[in-house]
Amino acid sequence: MCPELQFDPSYVLIGGQWQAVAQHVTLTNPSDGSELTKIARAGEAEVDAAVQAAQSALDGAWGEFTAVERGRVLTRLGQLVLEHVDLLTELEALDVGKPITQARADAVALARYCEFYGGAADKVHGQSIPYLDGYTVYTMREPHGVTGHIVPWNYPMQIIGRSVGAALAMGNACVLKPAEDACLTALMFAYLAQKAGLPDGALNVVPGLGAEAGAALAGHPGVNHLSFTGSVETGAAVQQAAGRNVVPVTLELGGKSPQIVFDDADLDAALPFLVNAGLQNAGQTCSASSRILVHRSRLDEVCQQMAEAYRGKRIGIASSDPDIGPLINARQRDKVLGFLAQAGELPILAESTPDNDLPDGYYVPARLYGPVAPDHDLAQKEIFGPVQVIIPFDTEEEAVRIANGTDYGLVAGIWTRDGARQMRLAKKLKSGQVFINNYGAGGGVELPFGGIGKSGHGREKGFEALYGFSVLKTVAAYHG
Ligand code: NAD
Repeated sequence: MCPELQFDPSYVLIGGQWQAVAQHVTLTNPSDGSELTKIARAGEAEVDAAVQAAQSALDGAWGEFTAVERGRVLTRLGQLVLEHVDLLTELEALDVGKPITQARADAVALARYCEFYGGAADKVHGQSIPYLDGYTVYTMREPHGVTGHIVPWNYPMQIIGRSVGAALAMGNACVLKPAEDACLTALMFAYLAQKAGLPDGALNVVPGLGAEAGAALAGHPGVNHLSFTGSVETGAAVQQAAGRNVVPVTLELGGKSPQIVFDDADLDAALPFLVNAGLQNAGQTCSASSRILVHRSRLDEVCQQMAEAYRGKRIGIASSDPDIGPLINARQRDKVLGFLAQAGELPILAESTPDNDLPDGYYVPARLYGPVAPDHDLAQKEIFGPVQVIIPFDTEEEAVRIANGTDYGLVAGIWTRDGARQMRLAKKLKSGQVFINNYGAGGGVELPFGGIGKSGHGREKGFEALYGFSVLKTVAAYHG
């Protein structure tokens, strides 16, 4: 059952108008498999209309907004998001199966993104450049124009906040394609943006299937910048489409992020980060810490304490606010179960199983494996489920080699009291973010975020995102 909404969730939002479409996709509640509601199945025609509406907004009212005015709209939007945190939380729990506490954290983060980018909108400055005699040279930052935002189902609110928030702050007009499994908070966000006074067409939402609406947006010649978060395969396809139109693209594609526990680590401090960074959102987190590298001298201790923590985790329906909810859909559940089957004889240190009386949702057990060889599939591939592996090491060099030994490089965590080692590893780890004596899976509105290798390229979040969502222009004036 979908809560009372003041807009029709089966509509698209184009040019400020909520519009019906001919075809629909059924949304399912992952907690019990029941039908939730229908959303639009936008196609090429709707995407084309949305891109045109975005361009019209740039040519019209939105294009005339000053940086201060853009900041004010975003700040008002952040306030409205805060006032609707309960509803956004409920929608996300129903739509994505996210436990209430975790869904609420996402809704609050969405407000924080609006506040952050609202406050930053008028603080992006150009530079003046000393040049030849008789010249004045300066740079300025301008919007790309129409930006396309293709968003996955795992953290819709956070990903929309970081990409649409930064894009609007810089004066772009957005076309948002939420994931077909998770559209409700995207639509609610757009509804609130209208209430906040965002001009028509500055934000358009076209829910639909990836191969239809997503591909149409990625390949549309009227789009000037693409931001994509999701799988490596789809990211590569989006980059190819962007390449054909020669437009920049930001890709955030997931990872196999390590936390490294050295012999001198403060294990009491580390333990909650080691476990929760793997189990948050049932492990469906691009920056999930799915590999725990442990110095052999602390191996027994870490295995025993993490196993105990696993046994205390409860799996349940999202509305009961368990530690771990269901996975997003049957496909994802089957994919994770496939990895568990493939683990074969790998030693299971602990398992947390779904309650017996759970309805027919997409649940999987949470499993901790160890010791696991660094080249095992479970230690190399992104599982996107509540599964972690413990990998022992003997030397710092070996730890670095193992940590850097996957195709990915998104986030890494180091647990050690040795300051010199902290600095050495921060340099040596191939990763977009390195956390020392903490771990921030997805956290930190203010912190630039993005990967290297197959984790993608470009940076979102923080002030850095504002550079990605704008173009630098150099002006050289000769005045003698
Ligand atoms: P996906 O990459 O296929 O989908 C992400 C977004 O891209 C969705 O909005 C989807 O509709 C859209 N899309 C799909 N095909 C497209 C195309 N051809 N052109 C343009 N857009 C397209 O991810 P998924 O199917 O939802 O999940 C598959 C796997 O991706 C998961 O098992 C997981 O490993 C990974 N994943 C990673 C992240 C992340 O944050 N890194 C998020 C979600 C999924």
